[in-house]
Amino acid sequence: MLQVFTNKAMMTRRDFLKTVSAAMMGVMASSCTPEPKESAAKASKYFGLQIYGMGPELENDLPNGFRTVKEMGYSTLELAGYREGKVGMFAAPIDIMEYRRMAEEAGLTISSSHVRPSLRAYTEDNKSELLDFWKKTLDDHVKLDVKYLIQPALPQCRSLEETQHVAALFNEVGQLSKAAGIEWGLHNDAGFCYRVAPGGEQSLYLLEGRYPEGSRQIMDVLLEETDPALVTFEYDCMAAVQGFNDPVEYLQRYPQRFHLLHVRDYAALGQSGMLNYERIFRQFHANGYADFYVEDENARSGHQTERLRESAAYLMNAEFV
Ligand code: MG
Repeated sequence: MLQVFTNKAMMTRRDFLKTVSAAMMGVMASSCTPEPKESAAKASKYFGLQIYGMGPELENDLPNGFRTVKEMGYSTLELAGYREGKVGMFAAPIDIMEYRRMAEEAGLTISSSHVRPSLRAYTEDNKSELLDFWKKTLDDHVKLDVKYLIQPALPQCRSLEETQHVAALFNEVGQLSKAAGIEWGLHNDAGFCYRVAPGGEQSLYLLEGRYPEGSRQIMDVLLEETDPALVTFEYDCMAAVQGFNDPVEYLQRYPQRFHLLHVRDYAALGQSGMLNYERIFRQFHANGYADFYVEDENARSGHQTERLRESAAYLMNAEFV
């Protein structure tokens, strides 16, 4: 301690000036350091592709398809078309672990998967069948090592009561999934914007310009009746807009419920002028989330690769992503 003090005390004016000038050089050097090149910033972006969007252009030749996806700028995949341990919608299904091996060979990870049980109505009678389906599905997806498991569409929801029953079952599935270490969630398709009424016989949209008396939007019922600790939402921004919902308003109203996004547009991202992705992403990031997947629902257009390449370029250049 004494030694240190002595050394400080012995610092000469020349030493002091040397120290100050070295510090100044450091400041000048850092202020003269060029900004990182745009390409370096681009390389650090991480976003995913929902594979349905590539359609047959991916599945007809998986090794080359995966290489193309990676080269376009996508880092990770969300599966569609899982059934009994296999994946495939446009070509012969293959074993999920073989699928993963090929994706990884191209430098892609698999982080999410869309799975929908074949049951179209959830009742007390088929509840054990439903839960068994998810247990088997979870076993496969634990092996696949995904972060998310997402149900992409609703079962039958004709009334408020039926929708509440479905929400209760979603909580049970979410509990199973949480125990397996996978975050379980719902993806909103057009059906989520329909409305259900107490004692109703059919979900309804606008009826002669009016909402049915006492009805609530299915999306709202599910947000209120599912447990945030067990069920997340993958927010399909375009489906929301088509159902007259404002994605930013929902992201603000439920800041902890939307852990991931589905990002799509009428053509390539940002080209329609109808979806304000800048506002959507700013709110999503402000909520503390970052995961999203690009989607294109027109999987047989014949321009899949071209459109998804343009979408990736849009995201790479967007300063708000
Ligand atoms: Mg979607």
